[in-house]
Amino acid sequence: MPDGDPAQKNTSHLLIFKRRRDSGQDEMLPDYHIHTIMCKHAEGKTADYRAVAAKRGIPQICFTDHIPSPDGYDADYRMDLSQFDVYRSMVTELQDDKSPEVLFGIEADYYQGCETFLREWLPAQHFDLILGSVHYIENWGFDNPADRHVWDSVDVTATWRKYFELVAELADSGLFDAAGHLDLPKKFGHRPSDKALREMAEPALDRIAETGMGIELNTSGLRKPVGEIYPSPILVSLAFDRGIPICFGSDSHRPEDIGRDFDLALELAREAGYTHYFRISQGRKRLVPLPETLQATHQQPL
Ligand SMILES: [Zn+2]
Ligand SMILES: [Zn+2]
Repeated sequence: MPDGDPAQKNTSHLLIFKRRRDSGQDEMLPDYHIHTIMCKHAEGKTADYRAVAAKRGIPQICFTDHIPSPDGYDADYRMDLSQFDVYRSMVTELQDDKSPEVLFGIEADYYQGCETFLREWLPAQHFDLILGSVHYIENWGFDNPADRHVWDSVDVTATWRKYFELVAELADSGLFDAAGHLDLPKKFGHRPSDKALREMAEPALDRIAETGMGIELNTSGLRKPVGEIYPSPILVSLAFDRGIPICFGSDSHRPEDIGRDFDLALELAREAGYTHYFRISQGRKRLVPLPETLQATHQQPL
């Protein structure tokens, strides 16, 4: 390399520059939130998801289907424990030399009473990534379209407060690598004021930061009534202020949604101040520079 070349000072910058010159685009971001038919409400083979990821230039994908729950929690939307080995082989049969690299993960629900099972079972599976998600407040599946009417009879702010208390407990458990869709209660458009949101989210984010967890920027909210990425810009900024690392997830339930709207998620991350995201292997995170820009999903091949 000739003297005085500015790229000499920063190898990672040089690599990014080279990639853009070759392809006209930065490398895509990994997709760390993908479901499979094992959850009973997704479609396509794991190989189909990977094929779309390959066409879109996504370097790494992680399957994170819903965890089995031996106590019967939310049984309609997850595999039984006896089916878990099928899920494992559907994912691990794709772990070869080809691109994208395939990681083995799980979306583990947090609810009161879940910890006894999780504490024993999760470490024994050697997941690359364990997403921790809250989908229930007591017995109410607040993001389930079939239970949406319950929102009409509850205090919205009090409901969100209970939700963030559960997220804080989730973080304190130390069982998870990253929190999934951090403001899921907004799915149907029910929201607290910005001031109330900050007050209730800050303690939860403090505890996420203390335990070294990350959060995901989950683009599935764009496909839901709220029409917005999870979490909202306010929460992404609060996470950035606390040094909480981020990853990206499409929450795909069909192959064509892999990496969907990651260009918008990248903008959200950059506007909050992020310059890096994390990649993970066996629960160990490492930070990687964010791309400058990404092609919009509708321009990407299927
Ligand atoms: Zn979820
Ligand atoms: Zn999910």
